[in-house]
Amino acid sequence: MKLLSTELYGNSPIYLQNLLLSFREYAHSRKRYGMGYYRYLHQLSIMDETDRLTEQRHQDLELRSMLRHAAEHSPFYQELYGNDLVDIRCARDLQQLPVIEEKLFNERIDDIRARRKRGQAETSEPGQLPHLWLSNLDLQKQTATEDYFKKLHGAINLDMKRATFDHGDFVPAGQKHGAFWRDIYYLNQRLYSAEHCTEQFLSGIISNLNDFRPDFIDGLPQAILALARFINEQRILLNFQVISIFVETDFFADNERMEIESAFGCSARQWSMKTERSPFLSECPAGNLHFNMRTGVMEFTEKGEIVLTRFHTKGTPLIRLKIDEQWIPVERPCPCGSVHPVVRKPQKPTTAFLQSRSRGRVTSLYLATIQEKFQQTVPSMQFVQNSIEAIEVWISGIAVVPAQLERDIIQEMASIFGEDMRFTVKGRSNDFSKETGPAGLIINNLQFPRTCQSDSGMG
Ligand SMILES: [Zn+2]
Repeated sequence: MKLLSTELYGNSPIYLQNLLLSFREYAHSRKRYGMGYYRYLHQLSIMDETDRLTEQRHQDLELRSMLRHAAEHSPFYQELYGNDLVDIRCARDLQQLPVIEEKLFNERIDDIRARRKRGQAETSEPGQLPHLWLSNLDLQKQTATEDYFKKLHGAINLDMKRATFDHGDFVPAGQKHGAFWRDIYYLNQRLYSAEHCTEQFLSGIISNLNDFRPDFIDGLPQAILALARFINEQRILLNFQVISIFVETDFFADNERMEIESAFGCSARQWSMKTERSPFLSECPAGNLHFNMRTGVMEFTEKGEIVLTRFHTKGTPLIRLKIDEQWIPVERPCPCGSVHPVVRKPQKPTTAFLQSRSRGRVTSLYLATIQEKFQQTVPSMQFVQNSIEAIEVWISGIAVVPAQLERDIIQEMASIFGEDMRFTVKGRSNDFSKETGPAGLIINNLQFPRTCQSDSGMG
């Protein structure tokens, strides 16, 4: 980013800034869009996301390669694993390896990095997490994964015209009017400054979009949303039709989606990789968020924590890192057919409810009373519903649930939910006395995954 803070750049006319920016991006993009990018993009296109066996096999293969690489090139993992790696054959075996806390990861990041030439040290701003050092191939595979997701929804990066709303550090601080966008000719991309998507500049930005006529739009949600609201409020008719809009966010509210879709007359798709240590999540045609299992392994602990292993971070191997994010696995198949796991954000407990087959909604209040009833014998309970016919009751702190207790709980459940449902009581051996999982008392997976795409459009 050095170029952008120079006086040369700041004092140049816009057309020269465009050229300078393109020139800089050319160097960047040679890293990003090298042969590894095209090779991996091709590989992704011949894989079959609906075939569990080949997807798992691929995941296991990538996992073993990652672990081997870490043990050979990273002093930290060498020391940590010793000879323990021979037993790790598949994603499930990962549990034999220790979980790494983020604090330790940050402290030891220099030892975690794969050995490399001297003089390549990365520096981080004070107060920021240390950056992962990534190899060119890491970057290429990450970029290909993102572009493949967009391709599945009809947008082909590099071939098609792309309008991206991103942080506007390419607009010099002194610039108060005029063009808040820059072209990167080489990538067929126009960058719009997200910071300038405010009331006073929006009509200028929209008329520029009308000139540019992008094929697809991507970027930050606040900027795209501000644009969409303005278009809807002013009833502006655009003279271009985008194929799709890709919103980079980990939470995409239904009303925001509707606003964007109605402004641009196409579907808006969510994807997320919040930081370079986050899981790669992307929305499928059925509207569910999948964790891309070609990019790593995502584990969900009983405490509701997320443990992440990523494959395309060989420069700084990221293996079983406990990350500070909240996701809940949805243990049901997605109508899109993909076997990649579906995840979602935890619901707010106030609106939480489970569904009775014959009696409608049962709010968390009722379930709290059940928990209270069994307080003496059961440290903590959690109610999980994956289908309308059945509810699972999880008990923490008891490995084997006594038969009498099981009968009592089932009877209690049947009295509230009705006799026409199945209830199973399961124990969890962990000994923590206070349930601190983010999902809390109940997990309702019924609305997820969305059953079919047209559902969301008809409300
Ligand atoms: Zn799906």
